[in-house]
Amino acid sequence: MNLILMGLPGAGKGTQAEKINEKYNIPHISTGDMFRLAIKEGTDLGKKAKEYMDQGELVPDEVTNGIVKERLRKDDCKNGFLLDGFPRTIAQAEALESIVKDINQSIDYVIHVDVPEGKLVERLTGRRICPTCGTTYHVVYNPPKEDGICDKDGSTLIQRDDDKPETVKKRLSVNIEQTKPLLDFYHDKGYLVTVNGDQEINQVFQDIQAKIEK
Ligand SMILES: [Zn+2]
Repeated sequence: MNLILMGLPGAGKGTQAEKINEKYNIPHISTGDMFRLAIKEGTDLGKKAKEYMDQGELVPDEVTNGIVKERLRKDDCKNGFLLDGFPRTIAQAEALESIVKDINQSIDYVIHVDVPEGKLVERLTGRRICPTCGTTYHVVYNPPKEDGICDKDGSTLIQRDDDKPETVKKRLSVNIEQTKPLLDFYHDKGYLVTVNGDQEINQVFQDIQAKIEK
């Protein structure tokens, strides 16, 4: 089964990716992992990508697409794959169409884990971290025993700048704008399945299974 996972920050994509990986025995391929592997293996494309990254530049699509193709050709993708974080643009989505065609495959489903924006703000701004041991908490979903204090070492918990409301809202709106055309693209292709991500983790996964095993 060849899948793409989509969802905004905080939608719980990582958790669902793990479950899909376990259940269907297909590798979870994130963009970061893909680049790291290509660089580690020292492929020509990996070397090129590294040059751009070392200079703090965006890796151009032709290099990224090549790395995706190399990755999807690997043995562990024989039963399928779960792409996460790619494609990010329509140009990349179109390139992916020809990549999978070249390797005699096709995309089966694009799974969109949908969570209302207000819920995402709540999830993301509620994170607290212990500056001493790095344990993360959530004021609603995983609170420490004593408000604002680490259970393990008594340190005062902090909120990272990334998790402050203004930053979270800005990040979300940038993501929404980027994602919208892709969702439309895959909807038009007939690949898109949307699941309600504003439910208990196992329920979300059950809904995913129900939709992709139809
Ligand atoms: Zn701690």
